[in-house]
Amino acid sequence: MNPVIIMNRRELTRKIMVGNVQIGGQNKVVIQTMARTKTEDTKALIREINTYATEGAQIVRVAIFDDADASALKTVIEGTSVPIVADIHFNHTYALKAVDAGAAKIRINPGNIGSKEKIKAVVEACKKKSIPIRIGINAGSLEKDLLKTHGRTAKAMVESARRHVKLLEDEGFYDIVLSLKASDVRLTVDATMLAAKTFDYPLHIGITEAGPAYQGTIKSAAGLGTLLYHGIGDTLRISLSAGRLKELKACKTLLASFDLYEAPTLISCPTCGRLAYDMDALVGKVETYLDTHPTNLKIAVMGCAVNGPGEARDADIGVAGGHKEGLLFINGAIVKKVPQENLYEALIEAIETYKK
Ligand code: SF4
Repeated sequence: MNPVIIMNRRELTRKIMVGNVQIGGQNKVVIQTMARTKTEDTKALIREINTYATEGAQIVRVAIFDDADASALKTVIEGTSVPIVADIHFNHTYALKAVDAGAAKIRINPGNIGSKEKIKAVVEACKKKSIPIRIGINAGSLEKDLLKTHGRTAKAMVESARRHVKLLEDEGFYDIVLSLKASDVRLTVDATMLAAKTFDYPLHIGITEAGPAYQGTIKSAAGLGTLLYHGIGDTLRISLSAGRLKELKACKTLLASFDLYEAPTLISCPTCGRLAYDMDALVGKVETYLDTHPTNLKIAVMGCAVNGPGEARDADIGVAGGHKEGLLFINGAIVKKVPQENLYEALIEAIETYKK
């Protein structure tokens, strides 16, 4: 990671409030997700959003698909503690209703609303309540003339963003967040990087329709990791066809690998023919434990004396495997030798004592 690049880039983005969460500027990257429940089903949706909030979502987006959803939004907002973004396509009256209901942000593309009067109405409503608008450019739904001139390229996506942005800026509205997404990793990276050079608005980053858990996580890590490395991205979502809890875990792990989120680091080796204790079971159990016991400790679980002591010493707490046993390290020093059947308990006890 190059923190200098990241800090410099963040200084350039505008700071925007989404409810009580500030994005842009030098703020840490904010984790978002989108609810699956239809907004009309308020009880289930509130339950869903509150679960995501517990699992690390800082902003949650909901779809406003019809009148029933628009009318239900207020109840959902009252029942949840994270800022709620209303995702609207085409129908500007839903945007007006969402503003009235207390949405923290509206996701709508002004170019798709229709007339200038309708755009004006949405902008005035958002201005009155200091609600930002996210413009979301998707490579799959670019304007025909841009496709004709530029093809499905980063340039076309940025030009599309420029058109939508201009419609808001013409109304004196600058409380804008942008996203430029594609299911293609390189196209997303190119478009978002070009957007970062072109605009100073905060950028929401993500690979859209990234796919099932394994492929989607790798594609997202490749694309979003590249952007984060260059200091680009003020909020992020990892979109998986695998359930939101997996998305949130992937977001946290990705951000933590750039020191942008406090999460435990579990270092473990791939094992080889030198392994002489039941390390796989230990790693699995420790990983499960860390999922439900928040800490920002660095823990190493290593196979043998080749790389084990080095990694275990560098970690806050570590195990270097031996023959059916392991050496327990705390703060770089060997504490004791533990038989393999007691290693998990010894490690957890060390973690809990360390946290106190
Ligand atoms: S630490 Fe030991 S067991 Fe693990 S991969 Fe390296 S040499 Fe193999």
